[in-house]
This record gives sequence, C-alpha cells and structure tokens, in this order.
Amino acid sequence: MALKIFNTLAGEKQEFVPLTPGEVRMYVCGVTVYDSSHIGHARSLISFDVIYRYLKFLGYKVEFVRNFTDVDDKIINRANEEKIGWDTLTARYIEEFHRDGEALGLVRPTVEPCATAHIPEIIAIIESLEAKGLAYRIGGDVYYSVQAFPGYGKLSRKKIDELEAGARVEVDERKKSPLDFALWKSSKPGEPAWESPWGLGRPGWHIECSAMSTKYLGQPFDIHGGGRDLMFPHHENEIAQSEAASGLPLARYWLHNGLLTVSGEKMSKSLGNFYTIPEILEKNDPVALRQLFLASHYRSPMDYSPESLDEAGKGADRIYETIERVGRGQRQKNDVGEPALMDAFRQEMDDDFNTPRALALIFDEVRALNRLLDEKNAKGLEERAAALRLMCGTLGLLQEGYFERKKQRWLKKGFVSLHEIEELISRRDGARKEKNWQEADRIRLELQSKGVVLEDTPGGTIWKVK
Ligand SMILES: [Zn+2]
Repeated sequence: MALKIFNTLAGEKQEFVPLTPGEVRMYVCGVTVYDSSHIGHARSLISFDVIYRYLKFLGYKVEFVRNFTDVDDKIINRANEEKIGWDTLTARYIEEFHRDGEALGLVRPTVEPCATAHIPEIIAIIESLEAKGLAYRIGGDVYYSVQAFPGYGKLSRKKIDELEAGARVEVDERKKSPLDFALWKSSKPGEPAWESPWGLGRPGWHIECSAMSTKYLGQPFDIHGGGRDLMFPHHENEIAQSEAASGLPLARYWLHNGLLTVSGEKMSKSLGNFYTIPEILEKNDPVALRQLFLASHYRSPMDYSPESLDEAGKGADRIYETIERVGRGQRQKNDVGEPALMDAFRQEMDDDFNTPRALALIFDEVRALNRLLDEKNAKGLEERAAALRLMCGTLGLLQEGYFERKKQRWLKKGFVSLHEIEELISRRDGARKEKNWQEADRIRLELQSKGVVLEDTPGGTIWKVK
C-alpha cells in the first residue's frame, strides 16, 4: 500500500515519496494574529492535524512548521484602534490561538515561528532577489518583479498576461506590473520597523513564509499546505520568491483544503454568520466538530450549519458509548487492531486522506461491535474494539473527558443543577434501602424528565446526560 496525495502543483493524485526515507517535512500557512480564529480556520487546522497524525501513524518522523503572521496592516490598524502596542495585540491572539488549538484537540506542530523573529532571514532573501534582478525599489519599498520569473502562475495555472489584463488599475503606477507585490515596506512613524538596507521598514506578507519554511525545513521540502484561498497569490508568490532566490524548487507536494461556507453563504461579520471557535465549543463538543469536518473530504468545499453539527454530535455519542460499552465488559487493554480492519482503514486514508470513507468504516464497526455485544459474542471483540480505538485515535476523535464535557454543557442549560441531581440520587438511595421501590422509581423518572439518566454500578449510582 502506498499513500497517494492530490498535488495541486501536478494537478493530479501522486504517490507520496518523501525526499528522505522515513521523514516528512511539512509547512502549513498559519493565521494572522489580529482577531479571534473562526470555524473556517478550524476546518483548515483540523484538516492538516489529521494529515499530520496520519503521517505519524504511517511511521514517518514529521517536522511540521506552522507560522504566525505577526506583522501586517490589519494588526497595525487594530492595535491603533485599541490604543495598544502591536506586539501586545499579537501576544494576546497567539495565546488565544493556543487555547483554541488545545480545545480543538490539535497536536502542536514541531515549530511555530513568528515572522518578526525572522527579519534577518527575510532581508537575506530580498537581497538575493535584488542581486539577481528580480526585485526593484520604489522609495523605501522593494517589489518583486513577476515578469522576471518565468514560472509565475504554475501552481494556480494562471497566465501573467491574463492576470494583468484582469487587474484593476493600480494606484501606484511606478510598479512595473500590477501583479508585482511588496517584499519590503517602508514604515510610517509609529509603525513597527526594522533596520534594513532599504531603510526602516517591515516585511511584506508573502516573504515570511519563504524565509521560515526554508530556515526550518530546507529547500525543497516535502509538503506545503494551506487553504485554497491562499493558492493565489500567496502560494504563487512564495514559489516565485524562493525558487528565484535559490534556484531550487520550494516544495514538492502542494495541498489545499476546501473552503467553508455557513448555511450557504460566505462567512462574514456583517452577515452575522461568523462563529469563533470558543462560541462553537461552548455548545458543542470538539469531537463533534471534528467529525463534521471529516465527513467531507478535505479538498471539497463544505457548508456548515448548526443542524449538521448537532447531527455529528449524535454520531460522536455513538462512538464513545460503544467504546465505553466494550470497556465495561473487557477490562483488558489490547492495542493491536484487527488486521483486516486496519488494512481497510489504511486503504481509505492512503487515498488522499479519504476521511469520509474512513468514517463510514468506523460507523460500520460501531454497528458490528454493538451487535456482538448484544449477542454476548466475545469472538474477536477485543481486536475489533482495539481497531476502533486506533482508527478514531488516528483521526483525533478520541479526546479525554468526552462525557464530562457533555455533562457540563447540559448543566449550563439550567434545566437541573448538580446539587439537585446529587440530592435526588441520595434520596433514591435512601428509598432503595427502605425497599420503597415506588419512590425510587419516581425519582428516577423525575431525573429522566430533566434529561438525566441513572445507572447503578458496583461502585454506586452514576448519572449521564440522556
Ligand atoms: Zn504562507
């Protein structure tokens, strides 16, 4: 079996062969830290989290770099509006990003570099582009000359002439082509600024990814990822900068995740369909969100609706209830999954990370395991349960504290308090001791009407959300 990946650069699915056997070097464009992350970011983050996890599951040693864009016009404007330093603003959103990532169950990348910590590397690339005649100055700004790079447009399959014809009339007529983009921008007073051969200034956006990917992963590296919206011009510009400066390809496999719409519309604050990650996780489990995303292939566009997330939540419940049910009967741990099942899982995931089909396999197995448990048939049960845990774990669907989070969300709805539940359980215990079965049953039904079900175990009575 071999992993096949759809490579945007090649325009087709290709067998994945890393440059160094057994090792993968992967770069994914991160967020600009000027605002809270939303569910569109969550989709991209989870897509590449699953790719990262699966590469590690296959036994690769993975170097995974995801950056923070921490200097940019949006950052400067927002910091000015709030009358705080730009670095105070970026520190706040980097911290928030890490909190969101943890809540989403993301595995941390090997390196999470910030643009502003790599100014010397950025300046070195721009100097080399200038020396080769690919960059020119306008005052204190430096621009990349796309006409001077013959491969411009090869990733997004766009032609320079057509792009130029379609470009709106530029304000800055000193640029050689409307497609030329800033490598270095001179700073206005009060803006973040660094010394450079072109005076005080700051890097343009695209150049940071060229500098940081190459610094940590070398050139070329194996996988470059990001959202489909970054393919042009951001990734095209990264290629133009890095390849022209070094004469080497930048990355060998380019992966792009599809974009997310909300109830059929583009997400935007003005439409009121803009959901931050904490807003979603207040009412839903991160596992449910992940499952919803994995039900679409990472490359396909997908539409989010609160109803579809509810539905995914029911699926997540079924998985956790099944794993718990098996665990109750079989205390023994087994980490060897049933071989035929694991082969089937690999076959689906090897096909460009086909998570919808891998999920279908997981739900087939949930049904099969419940049937075996109903029939009290222990044959192969342990290996199959181990396969279910392995498959779910590889996709990041197994996260500690699932049922506890569910309880907390239910209590927050306010139909019943924890104190009330505990008191009713204790009164029921009393009634049972006095063999007052009628009263015990009445209390059980009262709790049930508040969405709480009781289960009597050897260790005492426990409660669950219905
Ligand atoms: Zn980038």
